[in-house]
This record gives sequence, C-alpha cells and structure tokens, in this order.
Amino acid sequence: MWSSTSRCSAQERKRWWPAASGLSRTAAGCFWYTLINGVVFNFLAVLALTSHLRTMLTDPGAVPKGNATKEYMESLQLKPGEVIYKCPKCCSIKPERAHHCSICKRCIRKMDHHCPWVNNCVGENNQRFFVLFTMYIASISLHALCLSGFHFFTCVRVQWSECSDFSPPVAVLLLIFLCLEALLFLTFTAVMFGTQIHSICNDETEIERLKNEKPTWERRVRWEGMKAVFGGPPSLLWFNPFAGLRLRVLMGRARKSGAEFSV
Ligand SMILES: [Zn+2]
Ligand SMILES: [Zn+2]
Repeated sequence: MWSSTSRCSAQERKRWWPAASGLSRTAAGCFWYTLINGVVFNFLAVLALTSHLRTMLTDPGAVPKGNATKEYMESLQLKPGEVIYKCPKCCSIKPERAHHCSICKRCIRKMDHHCPWVNNCVGENNQRFFVLFTMYIASISLHALCLSGFHFFTCVRVQWSECSDFSPPVAVLLLIFLCLEALLFLTFTAVMFGTQIHSICNDETEIERLKNEKPTWERRVRWEGMKAVFGGPPSLLWFNPFAGLRLRVLMGRARKSGAEFSV
C-alpha cells in the first residue's frame, strides 16, 4: 500500500529524500501524499486490529454454565408466581434476552450472533467493539479503493514505466486484485455496520429480529440504545477501541480462551 498505490512516479519516489536541499514541488507533494496516506492507513489498521482483538477476547456476556442447581434456585428465594427459565442445553438459569449459542455451548446475554470472523459471540459486553471493527474495516477498505482508483487514473495519464515499479500487466493485475478485495470487504463490513447500528437503535438483537420476538423489556431506542452499548454520552471515546482496556484481564482471558471459548 505504502509504495504500490502511490500516485508518485518511480523516479519521484527515488529522488525525494536526498533532495532535501533542492526538493522539487512534485517530489515534495509526492512525499506528503505518501506520508499522509501511509499514516492514515496504518492508523486505521491499528484501530481495526485492536477492535478485532477486543471483540475476540472480551467475554460477550456468558452466563455461568450449570448454575441451575436446586441449592442455587433455593438461594434465589423466588416469590410465588415468579418465573425463571432454565437452559436445557447448558443447565444455566437463562436471564431475559439471553440465548444459547450452539458453537460456544453456553448462554450469552443479549446475544446478537456468533461471528466466525472474531471466533466469538457478539453479545452485551462486546457489541461496541464489533461495531468499531466493522466500521474501521469499512473505512480502511474505502481508503484502499480510493487509492487504487486514483493510482490507476494517474497511471493512465502518464507513461506506465514511470508510474509503477512493476510492468504494466502486473501493475494492472495487482490493482484489479486490490480493488476487488477492497470492494468485497467494504460491502460486507458496511452492511454489517448498518445492521448493527439498526439493531442498537431499535434495541433488538439479530436473533430477536429473526425470531420476531415481542419485546418484554423496556426498549431503549435511538440515542438511548447507542449510549447503553457504547457506555455514556456521545464522545470521541465511542470510537476508541482502547477505552477501558485492562491488559492484565485481557492476557488472562487470552490464556483461558482455549478452555473458555471452546469454538
Ligand atoms: Zn444455554
Ligand atoms: Zn457463540
């Protein structure tokens, strides 16, 4: 990305650095173009990777397995007529809006879906990181798509030999491959992002929507729903996948992940 999709010609790329004393205007523009796009791309990549790791390693809201024992039920001191649900698959007391995940083999609070891309369920505790993950992947794909398109049209205008270090057929093949890849991931993650925002704003998970469940809970719609998922009033912290990160907890969870998230 850093070099192959730059609009700078091969000669410009070679001459920008030693020419500190007599830097031409084109070479200086080329330097800033490469630097800014490189910083933007890598910044988005770090945010996307962090969001991915946090979705993967954060407990999605798992209900303790096998807690529906007689002793535990008695300790709850239920009032007459009060109903609680027991999951027959993992023998746990099923809180409202929890669903059993057949892949994780346990019940997850406010389970939205099981995502194979993050190897974890998306639920009450990690939905915000999943939303950020789809948003940053969509942004990075859009950025790559724009860079590829811009590079292609720049190459059409100048000599191909000056435009790329690769031969014209190889450069075109690489550009087509990059465009298709960026388009594929942009479409997929943008749709996912839109679906998630729609679910959050309607306070309805994907499973509840598919099952057409009538809401028995007090719905927190639009901004209230967003505030509940992202934690607090609108701020830049909503976009920060590092927010609330406690490394020790994360490392412990990563170590246990083999046993805990048996996927
Ligand atoms: Zn269950
Ligand atoms: Zn799952």
